[in-house]
Amino acid sequence: NTPLAELDPEIAQVLQDELGRQRNTLEMIASENFAPRAVLEAQGSVLTNKYAEGYPGRRYYGGCEFVDVAENLAIERVKDLFGAEYANVQPHSGAQANAAALAAMINPGDKILGLSLAHGGHLTHGMKLNFSGKLYEVAAYQVEADSFRIDMDKLREQAKAEKPQVIIAGWSAYPRHLDFAAFRSIADEVGALLWTDMAHFAGLVAAGLHPSPVPYSDVVTSTVHKTLAGPRSGVILAKQEWAKKLNSAVFPGQQGGPLMHVIAAKAVAFKVAAGAEFKERQGRVIEGAKILAERLNQPDLAAAGVSVLTGGTDVHLVLVDLRNSALDGQQAEDLLHSVGITVNRNAVPFDPRPPMVTSGLRIGTPALATRGFGAAEFSEVAEIIAEALKAGSAADAEALRARVATLAEAFPLYPGIES
Ligand code: PLP
Repeated sequence: NTPLAELDPEIAQVLQDELGRQRNTLEMIASENFAPRAVLEAQGSVLTNKYAEGYPGRRYYGGCEFVDVAENLAIERVKDLFGAEYANVQPHSGAQANAAALAAMINPGDKILGLSLAHGGHLTHGMKLNFSGKLYEVAAYQVEADSFRIDMDKLREQAKAEKPQVIIAGWSAYPRHLDFAAFRSIADEVGALLWTDMAHFAGLVAAGLHPSPVPYSDVVTSTVHKTLAGPRSGVILAKQEWAKKLNSAVFPGQQGGPLMHVIAAKAVAFKVAAGAEFKERQGRVIEGAKILAERLNQPDLAAAGVSVLTGGTDVHLVLVDLRNSALDGQQAEDLLHSVGITVNRNAVPFDPRPPMVTSGLRIGTPALATRGFGAAEFSEVAEIIAEALKAGSAADAEALRARVATLAEAFPLYPGIES
């Protein structure tokens, strides 16, 4: 029963340091968030000890009467949240949810058609070193070179030529809504299934502030930790007819014992996501991203070779185009890090620089909105980022760091939590 600080001071120190980092910097990685204290509690609980292979009421282990309650709550809550007929809350991660979804829908050797990784797609949508690129034949669609948007007419023609078994809607870096009705009609026209990976924008969908892919898709996957602000993990939603295949694709297809502490934490996160505070917060997520996009698309930034892909955003992130800037993605990421703002560099479509360097930044607002930021604070953050990117290596990092510190101090993170 020895406390962590006593048993393993080195790891206790990591927790302390990370809490300090999260408190003292501005987290703007688009795929990150701050899970509520109640989610951390559920996840750091005795449920971590329990084996529960199988599904509620049909387990391969005894003693599952209480974890069954947690899993059933998670399932019912997420079905209600998204209006889905079926849910599987066992995937350990987004990638595992995606692996199970594809395994349930098609056979190795079948063809998938998803957004190219270089244009904002995810590894699991057909990247050659990923299971998806190894198991399936891959065709990829791209954004347009002038608008940086997906042209649905072109996608229709490509789908007719490629005849994929699965069409993938969804992205890791794309700042606009997708036209799910058009995806459905293309899938129907070519006899393909439609899988939507809403990992990034699920929280916006839950809040009713983004079109829902659920009515249009055969299968929808998501992570729970991005805009949804839950524990790191995945979830699958689908029409009821897919229930048997999906259940078996997750367990025993992809996984052994489900992580019951994480499933309990998912149930908590889904409860939070159904509430009024969550909806109001997602409104600030989008408002903040729009403020950021507007500021970074002004002429003073353009003069420094900095602009915003597609000219704005509909979602929780902004893609900054640095192809004409003296800063590459790595330098811009490092520069913002030096003033206390955490973002990630990101390849822009048609990027002339290598993937480890890139010519872009992906900047997201979910974590800061969770922290309490509204329009005034997002305007100040946008100004700090604008000044840093405009000045490049000549930026007055000290002064910008002080402005970051003022914002961070005004919105205490996890008050009362020690580590
Ligand atoms: N799908 C999309 C669209 C993502 O952006 C990500 C994560 O970045 C994933 C799936 C994978 O999630 P995880 O990191 O939990 O495996």
